[in-house]
Amino acid sequence: MNRVFTCLLVLFLLPACGPRDLEPDAAIECERCADWNEPLDPFRIHGNTWYVGTDGLSAILIETGDGLVLIDGGLPQSAALIEASIRELGFDAHDIVAILLSHPHYDHAGGINALQRMTGASVYTSEAGIVTLGSGRLQEGDPQHVADSDDGRFPAARNVLAAGDGERLVFGEVGITAVHTPGHTAGSVTWTWQSCALGTCYDVVYADSLTPVSAPGFSFAESGAATSLIESAGVIADLECDILLSPHPFFFGLYDKLERIDEGNPFVNELACTFYAEEALGWLEQRLEAEGYSRYLE
Ligand SMILES: [Zn+2]
Repeated sequence: MNRVFTCLLVLFLLPACGPRDLEPDAAIECERCADWNEPLDPFRIHGNTWYVGTDGLSAILIETGDGLVLIDGGLPQSAALIEASIRELGFDAHDIVAILLSHPHYDHAGGINALQRMTGASVYTSEAGIVTLGSGRLQEGDPQHVADSDDGRFPAARNVLAAGDGERLVFGEVGITAVHTPGHTAGSVTWTWQSCALGTCYDVVYADSLTPVSAPGFSFAESGAATSLIESAGVIADLECDILLSPHPFFFGLYDKLERIDEGNPFVNELACTFYAEEALGWLEQRLEAEGYSRYLE
């Protein structure tokens, strides 16, 4: 068979050979995507920790003394904004040595493919998140999974590594610990590290989403995801926590804190993780009531 014919045959058969990869730079469209992706000026949260995300999707940069670590990549269309924010702060995205993921949903993992192509960095998630992140497809059992649908797809990440529950990854001078907090999805990871400046060190917690959001027909009560959310809220409430961050800036009151940025550091609040966990239990209670399981939390 001549070469041209073989190529034509392969091209012809390709769509039938299984799922095609998404065009990695194509923007994902969703109801809130445009709002979420509004640019936001980057800023220092404390010490080694910087905000480089967009208006509605967090991305956190950690300066380790030996390269940079990025947490979360937003949507595919967020990647260029994140890179520009990193540059605006005087850093170089080529110095990113690792990308850590909160959870493999399109609004936090969608930009990772593009960011990996810019940086060559490996990406870390939990064992439960590897298949979704490496395929860009939600797995059955994910609250947002819709059977036989492309809903929730995002460009697959490469070089996906697992961080075990409690595992401490060391980059330069900074140890970053993975704390598995399933419930919003099975692969959810909360990341925690220390930031020190002017002789004061704070425990920073990037607490993963604890929202009971799902595709129609999913039951948090019957699937056991409600139990996971309750346990994960307890784990987050018990963490050493001076500064709370999370995948959507709304969860940690970013806009309110930016207004108070001249009054000391508004991000420091040792009760923030406890409040976040309590708020999450309130969201779950409402959800369970809607599912007809209002006594579940008693
Ligand atoms: Zn999510």
